[in-house]
Amino acid sequence: MIKRTFYDIAAWVSGKAVNLSDNSVKVAGVSTDTRTIQAGNLYIPLVGENFNGHDFVEVAIENGAAGAFWQKNQPNPPVDLPLIYVEDTLLALQNLAKNYLASLTVKVVGVTGSNGKTTTKDMVTSVLATTYKVQKTEGNYNNHIGLPLTILSLEEDTEMAVLEMGMSGRGEIQLLSNIAKPDAAVITNIGESHLQDLGSREGISEAKFEITEGLRENGTLVIHGDEPLLTAKVVNSSIQTITFGNSEKNDFYPVQIEQKSNGTYFAINGEDKTEFFIPVLGKHNINNALSAIAIAKQFDVSTPNIKKGLENIKITGMRTELIQGKAGVAVINDAYNASPTSMRAAIELLQDLKDYENRIVVLGDMLELGNDEEMFHFEIGKGIDPAKINYVFTFGQLGQKIAEGAKVNFPDGRVFGYDDKQALIDNLKTVVAKGDVVLVKGSRGMKLEEVVRALT
Ligand code: ATP
Ligand code: MG
Repeated sequence: MIKRTFYDIAAWVSGKAVNLSDNSVKVAGVSTDTRTIQAGNLYIPLVGENFNGHDFVEVAIENGAAGAFWQKNQPNPPVDLPLIYVEDTLLALQNLAKNYLASLTVKVVGVTGSNGKTTTKDMVTSVLATTYKVQKTEGNYNNHIGLPLTILSLEEDTEMAVLEMGMSGRGEIQLLSNIAKPDAAVITNIGESHLQDLGSREGISEAKFEITEGLRENGTLVIHGDEPLLTAKVVNSSIQTITFGNSEKNDFYPVQIEQKSNGTYFAINGEDKTEFFIPVLGKHNINNALSAIAIAKQFDVSTPNIKKGLENIKITGMRTELIQGKAGVAVINDAYNASPTSMRAAIELLQDLKDYENRIVVLGDMLELGNDEEMFHFEIGKGIDPAKINYVFTFGQLGQKIAEGAKVNFPDGRVFGYDDKQALIDNLKTVVAKGDVVLVKGSRGMKLEEVVRALT
């Protein structure tokens, strides 16, 4: 974590330090939350819609903070406390992170994309950690506040940082990329999340491509090469680009895939003799692994180490997580979120799973898809293969459209649409039996982990 004097920090954020009893004191880490403050932290009060961190500066210092930022336009600054006056505390947080990072020798990998950012970040970290001292974004600290906080948590001797970059609109990835100045950047894919705000998939791809704006000179861009919206952008660009995906036109593609119930075995072009294993399911996770392989090779990690790193990945929870539930029923918990791309990927994965009696899906609303949301849901339902999936349960109003779509191809009695989660759970329990596998997936707001809990 950052350990610097108030004067160094004040210079980095164009601020003014006051009331220091000892000029040589260094802050140890920063915090924006008085509830989790640690002794020696610099407290950064942010001004939010529902709260104003400046109300808690005194509490922060009572709880052990070494000092705090203070935004100049805020009334009644506390007297006699060590403060750094700044124009804007959020900007100061971002500038502090940017300058701190620039003072380190750490190499940075940035990860963005519509789906799979956290998973890819975890995979990249795991392979790099075989060879380097690595730190990564924890949880989902991937926005204009979380990313700076992650950077400020980096240790001086960390060799590589793997940073997730999320967004909800234009300009945000540009901001994050300019703070983090990545040596390598990954764009996992382009999906439909945020279609509502960005208007089109092209709009989404432009927003993700902003990650190249902070890319260092001679930096490497790693993209999903099966996505024409991405490949079109690099055709005439001077950025050094590596592609991954299913098709043979990519720099990295799988040549042989074997899906087992505990994970996925695959080999890649050029190295058919190495069998890689990832303890997660689904072709989409092979794509995530391919980008991790591309990054690892870029930073000279050996193939045996890449293999070891992939075998040992720890995926953040609720992302295509296979759990052994009650009474011999397996559950794939993918309740973390959902968009059409990730929904299709998850259903495809379930359809390909052998070794189970019945394959059952429980699908909830995919939120924030904009004007065509009903069409997206209907098409998901229509795409489910009745020869491979035995029962379709849906939850929510848009979920009803998935059910309608599924009914196009499914015979009567195998598709159930619910608006009442408990009723869904009750009926699901009468249908599932030992040896079955159930995929549970929907947007965060649908809280489908309640269905997972009922089965496990
Ligand atoms: P968020 O925007 O919420 O931070 P994220 O991009 O970090 O999400 P993950 O948390 O890694 O994404 O994965 C969320 C879900 O997306 C997974 O559970 C899986 O269903 C799906 N997914 C993961 N990787 C891919 C991929 N490469 N292509 C399509 N879908 C994917
Ligand atoms: Mg994420």
